[in-house]
Amino acid sequence: MHDGLRNKGLATRAIHAGEAPDPTSGASAPALHMSSTFVTDQVAGFSAHDLEEEAPYLYGRWANPNVRTLEAKISMLEGTEDCLCLASGMAAATAIFLTFLSAGDHVIVSDVSYAGVAELARDTLPRLGIHVSTVNMSDLSAVSAAIRPNTSLIHTETPVNPIGRLTDLASVSAIAKSAGALLSCDATFASPLGQPSKELGVDLIMHSATKYIGGHGDAIGGAVAGRKDLIAKIRTESAIHHGSIMSPFNAWMIARGMATLPLRMTAHQAGATVVADWLETHARATRVIYPGLKSHPQYELAQQQMRNTSGMIAFQVGDHATGEALAQQMIDKLRIVHYAVSLGHHRSLIFWMGTEALMQSSFRLEGAQLASYRDFAGDGVFRLSVGLEDPEDLIADLAQVL
Ligand SMILES: *Cc1c(COP(=O)(O)O)cnc(C)c1O
Repeated sequence: MHDGLRNKGLATRAIHAGEAPDPTSGASAPALHMSSTFVTDQVAGFSAHDLEEEAPYLYGRWANPNVRTLEAKISMLEGTEDCLCLASGMAAATAIFLTFLSAGDHVIVSDVSYAGVAELARDTLPRLGIHVSTVNMSDLSAVSAAIRPNTSLIHTETPVNPIGRLTDLASVSAIAKSAGALLSCDATFASPLGQPSKELGVDLIMHSATKYIGGHGDAIGGAVAGRKDLIAKIRTESAIHHGSIMSPFNAWMIARGMATLPLRMTAHQAGATVVADWLETHARATRVIYPGLKSHPQYELAQQQMRNTSGMIAFQVGDHATGEALAQQMIDKLRIVHYAVSLGHHRSLIFWMGTEALMQSSFRLEGAQLASYRDFAGDGVFRLSVGLEDPEDLIADLAQVL
């Protein structure tokens, strides 16, 4: 796929990968192909197993030109052979689990992960006969100790939502390799610019394209990038058979957003650095977690592993009641930062994540795992997604409530 671009810079790849001027009209921008089917000169052959590489388009659940454009852009930035885009980030996580796990297999999942992924791993996978261990992925000896003869997948997330704890991908990848297991990583917080996941040994790089990749808060989507043979398996299983495809319109929107991803990530990092520095000096913020801050407990790892520390900040303000009261003030008074879930958009977003409620609904941590979580989050954190507004305006908006 557009191999000539592989030695070009990331900004050039994000703009040009997967698209070219229209040969008939000369249109410079990609057309939107809202077609569910494609005329074919093939007499027969209508099974996912008949699909050959570079086969012509046949039916929209197999592949679509706009979805392929987005897949080319993501695989070009991740440096992988291929990519598959799906209906949402959750569809991408589900695709990884249901393609590479069968009854009797064992999977190790990060004990803190996107809440939906944590719940999927805890509630759905065991029902299908899949054995699940949840492990603090920043503790390498815990990862090694969790390996079993039937471990076929390790699924991590770095930086992890919502607390910004990191996984040492190169080390966990070495553990996975010696166990003969695949390593998948939810790199949504980092974006494809944040870390060279493939070089660090990740087999399946997962994103919620709803976040940084789309970047404008107007389309939901997900992606998995990796080797051609692995992506082909997921395409057959999850796109063609489970049907969890991305719509061409969403792919067209997200590809348009993605063209500016490298530029946006530079600005997200710059803005977040200013806001994190300000928060750290503010008397009301009792703890600020941002991988670009020297005070981050894994600052060294962040420096080694990340090439962009992204725009996600977590900060504490005290006990549960204090956090909740401040959240209410934010709802009433913030004018620029939106009080809302989601992240990675050009608009700044903030949301309060109380530890107790999250433990009950999603994570259910105890003992050392709970202690590690509380070390980052205390009774709760404000998850701040620093957008692309002028940082001084964000600070002024937050200063009225802090
Ligand atoms: C949002 C998010 C998801 C889920 O993505 P959707 O597109 O909302 O389905 C998965 N992982 C992380 C880290 C996320 O932030």
